[in-house]
Amino acid sequence: MTTLRLILGDQLNHNHSWFQNPQKGVHYLMMEMRQETDYVTHHIQKVCAFFLAMRRFAGFLENQGFQVHYLKLGDPGNAQALEENLDHLLKKLNCRRFEWQLPDEWRLDQQLREFFNTRDLAGGPVDSEHFLTTRDELEAFFAGKKQYLMENFYRSLRRRENILMEGKDPVGGRWNYDAENRKAYDGSVPFPQSPKPENDVSAIVRMLDSMEVRTLGNIDPEKLNWPVDRSQAEAQLEWFCTEALPHFGTFQDALTEKDPFLFHSRLSFALNSKILHPREVIERALKSWEANPEAIGLAQIEGFIRQILGWREYMRGIYWAKMPEYRSLNHFGYTNKLPDFFWTGKTKMRCVGQAVRQSLDHAYAHHIQRLMVTGNFAMLAGINPDEVDRWYLGIYIDAVEWVELPNTRGMSQYADGGLLASKPYAASANYLNKMGDHCRHCDYDPKKRVGEKACPFNSFYWAFLEDQREKLGKNPRLGNPYRTWERMDPSLRNDLMEQAKFYREHLEEL
Ligand code: FAD
Repeated sequence: MTTLRLILGDQLNHNHSWFQNPQKGVHYLMMEMRQETDYVTHHIQKVCAFFLAMRRFAGFLENQGFQVHYLKLGDPGNAQALEENLDHLLKKLNCRRFEWQLPDEWRLDQQLREFFNTRDLAGGPVDSEHFLTTRDELEAFFAGKKQYLMENFYRSLRRRENILMEGKDPVGGRWNYDAENRKAYDGSVPFPQSPKPENDVSAIVRMLDSMEVRTLGNIDPEKLNWPVDRSQAEAQLEWFCTEALPHFGTFQDALTEKDPFLFHSRLSFALNSKILHPREVIERALKSWEANPEAIGLAQIEGFIRQILGWREYMRGIYWAKMPEYRSLNHFGYTNKLPDFFWTGKTKMRCVGQAVRQSLDHAYAHHIQRLMVTGNFAMLAGINPDEVDRWYLGIYIDAVEWVELPNTRGMSQYADGGLLASKPYAASANYLNKMGDHCRHCDYDPKKRVGEKACPFNSFYWAFLEDQREKLGKNPRLGNPYRTWERMDPSLRNDLMEQAKFYREHLEEL
């Protein structure tokens, strides 16, 4: 029986059991489609990186002798939608069996199930063989709990996978080195320069232009500096483990305008497209640490493992436990529109401007920029989480809904009411000033709370707490800030509320 196997654009897993040996009568299909370029406005680098990575992967399979049918976006026979393209090829090849790897996005999962259930075909879904946990594992782990704490899930995975363990105990006696991983960048170590693959995507850019695909952000079509195949991804991983990992944890939370990447790995695209497997990333990092524990301290390696084994698997589990309801949660009932400067970077708030501009230039901002600068601003300014989600889902090279949504709606916007975070990630200028160097040259004064040049993060922060007292007032982790607020002079409190109101009414001018 002839079989058709579908490979989605984020399923570029060379080691999948499908690809052990070419088999007669088994065909593979990969498609570039308008349904994927248009469900949100994506960064141009993201579209180019996915299409180029898919094309390289198809080339790799063909070289190995697999029968691959590849539909480019501009191909005349491309119906631009999954069902039509599948129906056409299934008929053409006379296939009676259809197989697909479990998608990571709810939208595609539904679409493929519906397709299969309404056709007379044998086959069905198989695992993508990428994650270290199954889709449902987190839900079962936290069954009956009101809050899903990442730390508990992470520790159980450390034990089960025997990673950084000494018998039943964590290596070094501690599970968590977060407290040592909160340094501002002090210039003591120069930023390592990562490999620059300089991929030429001009043909893809021309194709997108000619088909009038709407994108955002900037690109040098001859130099796309994201790893898009195995050898480039392996080089990026190697570079990270030798050059950046020794300082990864220390400066993990730092904000600086001196460099857009600091000591971050930039592996998220290679991981999310499945070019790299999380286990190989973990094993490679552990190997570096074991070979050189003096240069790579425990706080560095644990900090990194926590991101991949902890946060990444956890976010995926949250997604599958809570979709589809999760994508419309709006705990604070926010309705404001995202200001235009999220698409231009033209704002007097220097930290926000830099985070947005580098996102437009590189399709990248590191975690703390996403969480504590743009995300924090959006939450404090009362922006509708639908708008915030759309922005994050479009702008980043690594943005795929299963990981974008829980990070944005849950972690950064607290729109799930605290399922994922024990308190909102809200901060005033004090935090931004402590962790970063933007405030020194900013138009706003981080120390000023009201009046001319008062940093908007200050009045926004206090007004947020006051406005959300009903929802947050009893949170034990917010006891201190609420006490500080209550001790403030009533006239200052009043001025702060007025200042925040004024700034909210003039968001576009900030
Ligand atoms: P590093 O800092 O070097 O970390 C190593 C790896 O750990 C990352 O490549 C990533 O795979 C994983 N990781 C780290 N933090 C997280 C996290 N919170 N959740 C899941 N995995 C994590 N990550 C995405 O992959 N896609 C997204 O769409 C995405 N959207 C985000 C939106 C918001 C509002 C926030 C606050 C975070 C988001 N993240 C997202 C998580 C994180 O910011 C990125 O994974 C990270 O910045 C990618 O850069 P890096 O590869 O240099 O990461």
